[in-house]
Amino acid sequence: MEKINWSDLGFGYIKTDYNVRCYYRDGKWGELEVCSSEIINIHMAATCLHYGQEAFEGLKAFRGKDGQIRVFRMEENAKRLQASSRGIKMAEFPVDRFEEAVRKVVKLNERFVPPYESGAALYIRPLLIGLGAQIGVKPADEYMFTVFVTPVGPYFKGGFSLSKVCIMREFDRAAPNGTGTIKVGGNYAASLVAGEMAHEKGYAAVLYLDPKEKLYLDECGPANFFGIRDNTYITPSSHSILPSITNKSLQQLAEDMGLKVERRPVAYDEIKTFEEAAECGTAAVIAPISQIDDIDNDVSFVIAKDGKPGPVCEKLYQTLRGIQYGDLPDTYGWISIME
Ligand SMILES: *Cc1c(COP(=O)(O)O)cnc(C)c1O
Repeated sequence: MEKINWSDLGFGYIKTDYNVRCYYRDGKWGELEVCSSEIINIHMAATCLHYGQEAFEGLKAFRGKDGQIRVFRMEENAKRLQASSRGIKMAEFPVDRFEEAVRKVVKLNERFVPPYESGAALYIRPLLIGLGAQIGVKPADEYMFTVFVTPVGPYFKGGFSLSKVCIMREFDRAAPNGTGTIKVGGNYAASLVAGEMAHEKGYAAVLYLDPKEKLYLDECGPANFFGIRDNTYITPSSHSILPSITNKSLQQLAEDMGLKVERRPVAYDEIKTFEEAAECGTAAVIAPISQIDDIDNDVSFVIAKDGKPGPVCEKLYQTLRGIQYGDLPDTYGWISIME
């Protein structure tokens, strides 16, 4: 095989050996199939293409010092995919079969799981799409569940570091009672224009306000948000936020570290009180925020006043990474070892 320079990997697509697929036809899911083609051959009237019947997941496999491969909280991803499926009227893929599919695809592509020292990981992408041909607006009667994997580099190449985010009121990624709470492609399509504008201006992401009143913080395009103040971990609750598994895990770890945890509407006005703030999600675990610029009002909130990630973010990051790579004990049963 072509030699992969693990520590140079970015977050791009690299072909691996196999993917797994499973079809839903005549009201039931079939057998898991192993496939070496990257191509999906589908009907041009498939509902995923026209009416957005598409949901996905993202999780990672990590190789430990001991050589073992660990997958983080895959049951949570399986359940979230079911919630997404219910949200857009797709057939639900069973949790145990989701786990079986992940085990299988990781095992089959074991040679693409980066070595411990590289800080890289194997990204796992489950996808569920509506396949049946439909012209009227209604759910498909056929679905495909598939999982592919691709190795991805360490998010922080030069070490844990800060980035800026911005607030723009012109765009929403989800409607107040829309699909913000489920992981569907449509939310991402809705975030592309604002996301590209933010990137052009030098921001890592857009920090969205609640779409109804624009008074509360929601989340960043592809990651949840939290702030730290007075030994408290504060993260927004809202009807348009995707429930991040990383955020949920960090809340547990924060509590274990003796922090208070608050999950509640977080007013825009609180931004100036945060001692630390960060994005969180599978890609980075934690991406600490240096400053939040409100572009519409030309106001900058500098969070990291000394220009370094804060101590709470740093500790949470090291702890969660430690658990994922097997350097710290897995107290909560978050890890599945791939045999
Ligand atoms: C996937 C996703 C996240 C992060 O969730 P994790 O489970 O932590 O990876 C956050 N926000 C949005 C909008 C997402 O799609």
